[in-house]
Amino acid sequence: MALNALELIYKRLRERPQELVEARANGAKVVGFQAYNLPEEVIYALGLIPVRLGSGGDGDLVEVGGRYISTKNCVYVRSTVGLFAENTDPYIVNSDIVAFDATCLQTFRTAEVVQYYFNREVIILGVPRNFYLQEAHTYFAAELRHFVSRLEAISGVTLTRERLADSIALYNGIRDAIVRIYPYQATKNPAISWEQVFDVIQAGYVLDRREYLGLLESLLAELVQQRGAPVIGGEDDEARIFISGSTIPPGDKKLISIMQELGGRIVGDDLWSGLIPYVDVQIEDATLEALASAYLNRTPHGALPYLELATDRRIKRLKELITTFKANGVIYHTLRYCDPYTFKAKETKDILEKEGIPLLELHTEYAGSDFEAIRTRVEAFVEMVKLRAESEEAA
Ligand code: SF4
Repeated sequence: MALNALELIYKRLRERPQELVEARANGAKVVGFQAYNLPEEVIYALGLIPVRLGSGGDGDLVEVGGRYISTKNCVYVRSTVGLFAENTDPYIVNSDIVAFDATCLQTFRTAEVVQYYFNREVIILGVPRNFYLQEAHTYFAAELRHFVSRLEAISGVTLTRERLADSIALYNGIRDAIVRIYPYQATKNPAISWEQVFDVIQAGYVLDRREYLGLLESLLAELVQQRGAPVIGGEDDEARIFISGSTIPPGDKKLISIMQELGGRIVGDDLWSGLIPYVDVQIEDATLEALASAYLNRTPHGALPYLELATDRRIKRLKELITTFKANGVIYHTLRYCDPYTFKAKETKDILEKEGIPLLELHTEYAGSDFEAIRTRVEAFVEMVKLRAESEEAA
């Protein structure tokens, strides 16, 4: 049965670029950003329009970006720089200010290049390296205060407690709705696929956030009406695949379309372009300090150092999600020159294999030249996972 809210989300996405043009003509300001630990709540609270920038899957854009940023930078940031160079993407064109954070050094390098070559007004939010220290929380709160002061000057609005509280409540609603919608894709004969949920999450990068919450609530209500509470699990002979590793931004459909073509089923992810930013956000108070701490307390990004694998919350969360969504194999996807996730592939594989969970590492880029090679490897992996699932079922 069709999901009306899902169709409406796709429709509103098509309409959004023109809406932004009109909003700006009426005096609104758009903050385009690319970041992993930027509390978006502060942008919205100041009456600015937050839009997450970046796309993937276009080898030509990577080539264009590579004229301005090192070709040893990851393909995602080269593609982003390519978007600024071409300046035709509606979200790039309509960003009055662009913001980046310093979680991954490649992201803040993008900021430097964008300001230098494209003369855009850029703000960088500093991010500590060790999220576990109290000093890191103090530092990040100070960075966030500075970031807010820059936005206050741009918007002409002062961030009050009331404004921040309203924005936090809105974003808490978005996070809660996503976490509740997500399990429906992992059920038997699902009403919504993982790929569609992924699209829904990424629609939230650009749609008006209050409207987006309403759309998520409508989608959730339809799912509940059609299926009741989600019961996670699938057909007995299915290869249920979990996706981990580098970000998969809007437009990067290579792995997703290979999986669809081969009949392998994605049932979960811990991607920063997927579920993970919405999990574990507990904001204790409507203050910048509480907001900063809540973001640092989330599952940490792979670009951050952590020495004790046994207590690494990234690994712990990965294992929990694999179990929750009853996945029986992991595809660990890394983008060319994405060092944070490429470097951590081997340890992740070793840890999961000790638990009997097979992992396939795929190293790819946005050019289509490796499509067939990736397809062959994914096909063999999906077949192996399927056979294991069948033999476990028979045992
Ligand atoms: S984490 Fe990887 S994909 Fe993301 S900006 Fe850094 S290097 Fe690029």
